[in-house]
Formats: sequence, C-alpha cells, structure tokens
Amino acid sequence: MENRITRKEENFSQWYIDVILKAKLADYAPVKGCMVIRPNGYILWENIQKNLDRMFKESGHVNAYFPLLIPESFIQKESEHMEGFSPECAVVTYGGGKKLKEPLIVRPTSETMIWSMYARWITSYRDLPLLINQWCNIVRWELRPRLFLRTSEFLWQEGHTAHETYEEADKEALKMLGIYKKFVEEYMAIPVYKGQKSDSERFAGALQTYTIEALMQDGKALQAGTSHNLGQNFARAFNVKFATREGGEDYVWATSWGVSTRLIGALIMAHGDNKGIIIPPKLASLIAVIIPIYYSAKERSRVLSYIQSLYLNLKNDFNVKIDDREEYRPSYKFNEWELQGIPLRIEVGPKDVEKKQAILVRRDTGKKIILPFNEVSLRFSTLLNEIQKNLFEKAKRFKEENTFKVDNLDDFQKVIDDKGGFIYAHWCGSPECEAKIKSLTKATIRCIPFHNEKEEGKCIYCGGKSSQRVLFAKAY
Ligand SMILES: [Zn+2]
Repeated sequence: MENRITRKEENFSQWYIDVILKAKLADYAPVKGCMVIRPNGYILWENIQKNLDRMFKESGHVNAYFPLLIPESFIQKESEHMEGFSPECAVVTYGGGKKLKEPLIVRPTSETMIWSMYARWITSYRDLPLLINQWCNIVRWELRPRLFLRTSEFLWQEGHTAHETYEEADKEALKMLGIYKKFVEEYMAIPVYKGQKSDSERFAGALQTYTIEALMQDGKALQAGTSHNLGQNFARAFNVKFATREGGEDYVWATSWGVSTRLIGALIMAHGDNKGIIIPPKLASLIAVIIPIYYSAKERSRVLSYIQSLYLNLKNDFNVKIDDREEYRPSYKFNEWELQGIPLRIEVGPKDVEKKQAILVRRDTGKKIILPFNEVSLRFSTLLNEIQKNLFEKAKRFKEENTFKVDNLDDFQKVIDDKGGFIYAHWCGSPECEAKIKSLTKATIRCIPFHNEKEEGKCIYCGGKSSQRVLFAKAY
C-alpha cells in the first residue's frame, strides 16, 4: 500500500518526514525552506491556537496585529538583537518598481516594531502594564530546513508586555512559561523540564531567557517554548520612558514570549509510532471514526442503520464521523485513520449488530474494547481521559528513563553517542567550557532547571568548581 512509512527504529528522520507527507500534515513549497501546512496539520495548529489563546486571555492579555515589514534602522537600534538576527533576515529592497530609500526587513520577530509603537502609547505608570499578543507569521532564512521544526517562514504567537519594574516583568515572563508548560503537558501530553537558559543560549537582547524542554523519541531535546525578561534594553533603544508613581521618570521594563508551529513537530516525535501520528484527545478535532464492516447488500443496510443510531447517541457531545466510503475496504480505512492519529476507531459488523454491541479500538495502545450499545456513549469520556493520561504517562516515563546523571566527559560522550537523552552534569559556569563541550559532543545546555538541587561537584570539562548540575542534550 502507498501509505507505507519507514520504521522509526530504522531511520527516525525519514520516519518523521514520511509521517508528515503521508498523513497529509504538510508538504514542501516551491520556495526552498518554506512549507505548505495542509488541512490535517492546520487543524492541529488551530487547536493549539484556540486553547493557548483562551489561556492568554484568561491571564489578562489581548491580541493585536503589527505589520510584517520593519525599517532596517529599527533592527539596528538594539545591538545584541541585531547581531543575533541579521544573518537570517530577509530584506525587501524594491517596492512599486523602485529601489526603496530604506530597505525593509521581513519580521524575524517583532520586538523592534512593537517597541517603536509602545513609545507612542506609554507615557505614565497609568498606561502599564500593557499586555499584548499577536498571532502571525515570521521569516528567518533557514539553510537546513526541516518540516515544522525549521522552516524559513513559520507561524507563531509573540507576546510583548510592558511593566513598571524589573520584578513585575520577571514575574510575567515566568507566568507565561508556566502557561506554556501547562498547555504542553495537559493538552499535548508532552512532559517538559522548565528552567533558565545559559548566557550563550539566551535570546538576543534579553537579560533572561526561560524555556521548556521536551524529549523526542530519538533522544534529542526540543525547545517547546521560551519567554524572555528583556529588561530595559528595548525601552532604551526606542526611548520608551514613563512617569513613575513616585513622580520620577524611568525606562519601561519588557518581556516577550512565543511558541510556534514547531510544536506540531514535537507532537509527532513525542507520540508517533510506525502506524503514524497519535493525537492526544484534548488536541484532536475528530475524536472517533465509525467504520462499518459488511459482506452483502443486506448486511450493509442493517449495519449502516445500526451505526446511524450509534452516531446519533454520540454526536451531540463528541466530534465523531462515519466512514461509509464504499470504494475502500475496512482495512484500508483502519490504516488511514491510524496514520492520521484519530484517538478512537469504532468497528461495527453484522455480529455486533446481532449482539447489540460495538468494538472500540484505542489508537494509543491498539487495545480493543467491546461495549454494549448503551454503554458506548457513557464510557466515551472516561476512555478519552484514559488515552490522554496514558500518552502523558508514557512520555513521562520515557523522559525519566532517558535522563542520566554523568560525572565525566567520557561517560558524557558515551551516553550522547549510544542513546542520547538528557544529561544532568556539573558545569563551572564558564561559556568557554560550554562551547568546548558543544564542539566535542554537539550537546548544548538546554537549561539550568528551576529549583535545582545544590550539589558540590567538578565541571566535566575543566574540573573547576561547580555548585549544581545543568541539563545537557543534543537538540533540534
Ligand atoms: Zn568548566
């Protein structure tokens, strides 16, 4: 069958691409590095968006939209920011058939545009806090693209907030990281480590970058969301001052935070198997597909009318679909819905009609459950909760079983080469050691976990004093 996908144990990267293309989540675009998000992938993004947007609004944020094109001079105003982003910027030099006086940058992120506007909107502490989010696309030129994980254009949300004090901004950045963790764990069923980035992994122009880090099934980490305490850097660059409560004047304190369509890549790699993707029920639009099985015209009408009443029982509470396409055999349909990760399949054949029952098959475990007709709708919610919980527990076990404490560079290298995963090791805090470890092993510091246990030890690279372990991994 054309739906065959490479086994993930054989070649994980090929498995990932096969799953995306065959499950019709996305496709390559005519421009290298860009991708088309197909309906099956886009609905996942819509569900991510819908739930996160609700959580943002419940915590006091509002949405707005800022323009795609940013004057080049804006990017140059914050020097660290410019250094960080210039290499991946796309620049518009012609418009309306004429060379532009000032080149325009296609936004790689919107701090500069947004802070140029905040300069007009903020004059007093009465204007603060300002809590704005935008859903949009951004462009960061990508030399080694990978569907959903690294594409030159991608979709994301970026929150940009303005505050009176450092403490307030820091509280906001941590609060948003907490929302990301809650969403990724509760809806996407992916457990994460939460912590702070080392200086060299910080966002360009931030004082602090906070991150949630997930583990994929091939042992590589994936940064699932970040939030930044930007201090007063952007307020200084754009001269955004406010009259304080005490009658003085100060620069405004800032945060920014974002998650992107790479979350869909994380979903695929955290839960997928050799049959395709697995969508956790809380993120799925279509919850179950009912598939009729029959061998004669007489059986067909009996089975279909039975299925109709089953469907009517469920459809008010759950998004359920009957797949009665006659041009495909049931086995083809089973494979297709498994490939697309729909949480439950309901099979009904002539025997089930006779016994007044239905067979439910879980996508996460493949387990079959036979239920009397009356119990199907009663058991539905429980079953979906069980699937959601099982996916999270399984991923959590995997993360824990693949987090290793290591005390020297040889063991570090061995773990990275053999199985990957997170490595919890001592580091003296020097960027040089961090860079050396990275060039030797390709592993980076993913984060310094919050509430990290203090422990005396020796840096695995230089042997220097260390007071805590940090989390390393090879990452996407
Ligand atoms: Zn060191």
